[in-house]
Amino acid sequence: HATEWHGTKDIRINPNRPKPAVTDPQDVILKVTTTNICGSDLHLYLGYMPGMKSGDVLGHEFMGIVEEVGPDVKSVKKGDRVVACFDIGCGHCFYCNRELFSCCDRSNPSLGQEFLYGHRTAGLHGFGHLTGGWDGGQAEYARVPFADTNTIKVPQHLDDDQVVFLSDILCTAWHANELGGVGKDDVVAIWGAGPVGILAAHCAQVRGAKRVILIDNQAYRLKHAQAKLPGLEIINFAEKDTLKALNELVPNGPDVGIEAVGFHYTKTMSSKVQMAVGLATDPSDMLNEIITAVRKGGRIGVVGVYAGKCNGFNIGAFMEKGMSMAAGQTPCQKYWHKLLEMIEAGKLDPTIVITHRLPLDKVAEGYKIFNEKTDGCIKVVLKPGL
Ligand code: NAD
Ligand code: ZN
Repeated sequence: HATEWHGTKDIRINPNRPKPAVTDPQDVILKVTTTNICGSDLHLYLGYMPGMKSGDVLGHEFMGIVEEVGPDVKSVKKGDRVVACFDIGCGHCFYCNRELFSCCDRSNPSLGQEFLYGHRTAGLHGFGHLTGGWDGGQAEYARVPFADTNTIKVPQHLDDDQVVFLSDILCTAWHANELGGVGKDDVVAIWGAGPVGILAAHCAQVRGAKRVILIDNQAYRLKHAQAKLPGLEIINFAEKDTLKALNELVPNGPDVGIEAVGFHYTKTMSSKVQMAVGLATDPSDMLNEIITAVRKGGRIGVVGVYAGKCNGFNIGAFMEKGMSMAAGQTPCQKYWHKLLEMIEAGKLDPTIVITHRLPLDKVAEGYKIFNEKTDGCIKVVLKPGL
């Protein structure tokens, strides 16, 4: 069984999908035990990402048991329990050598991305044909290329739910804090109380932030986060304008702003962007709100996903306020050993975002409730064995 994309909001289980095979000496094949639905999958689900073809297998967050091993794989063997990461690094190029795995030069054989970005990014699992066309892991079996770089062994005493987010969102939450330089005594504001934003808040607290403020218009998500993370402050922009509310809480503005929303929530439309990349969005509003809110000399970390140009970007305010901003897909491999240690030590508990555990065959229902934010849904984990 595998989850196939067939078009906007058209997600189907194919019970007859052939099991993937080792086709490169550095591959492993995993029997998937847990796989998740991510906010990034929503970009595909909603039809905003170019490069998907009908029948592509979705899913970039997964873990499982190693079932087959290519002859050149050294670090894992049959029977090992491993987590795979969503970004594919070859392990040996200029970028991988600098731990910039999500910029890998060799893992994305697709042509066409230059048109969007002027360069090519790393291959990604389950993200279509601009990022390598690699099949994803919302399936019973998945192929992981360059397995020495893209899998991490996990200890038996930690269960799947504790470690599966090393595949993406825990590393991404940490990356957001790194990009924003979150340190002791910082006041941190986080836009987006999805799984990424909530875990970014968790990481910010663990890193010693003095105050952490989480912003969303979904009251149930904010409440859930507050119950799990004592001391967390919240802003519900359905009730009060974000900038006004932040100004009351932190008159000077937060030291750090983290963007954990992404372009598909942007309501405005730019015909220029549409013409350039076939996307109907101008995400500047989101970024400009953060630039306006964060204090002079402050830092902004952007992990929410963007594609295409940002025509209304407030470079004037950004420059005059002397800010810095960093962004990117997460190089999970850079952080996952350290984060695994922190999970083992009880310092990080990524399971706080899980609200739904569903059998793999209910994946379409999972996408629906996650997208519509119904049934109290925050994070769906899928179990092929359930
Ligand atoms: P999600 O869609 O569940 O969460 C986004 C949240 O933002 C939602 O709760 C939504 O209500 C909220 N939101 C919408 N408009 C807002 C606004 N104006 N202000 C504040 N909040 C607003 O998704 P998620 O799984 O938490 O992922 C969040 C983003 O991170 C997505 O864009 C996803 O693609 C991205 N992501 C990036 C990486 C990376 O490597 N950089 C990895 C994983 C996910
Ligand atoms: Zn993800």
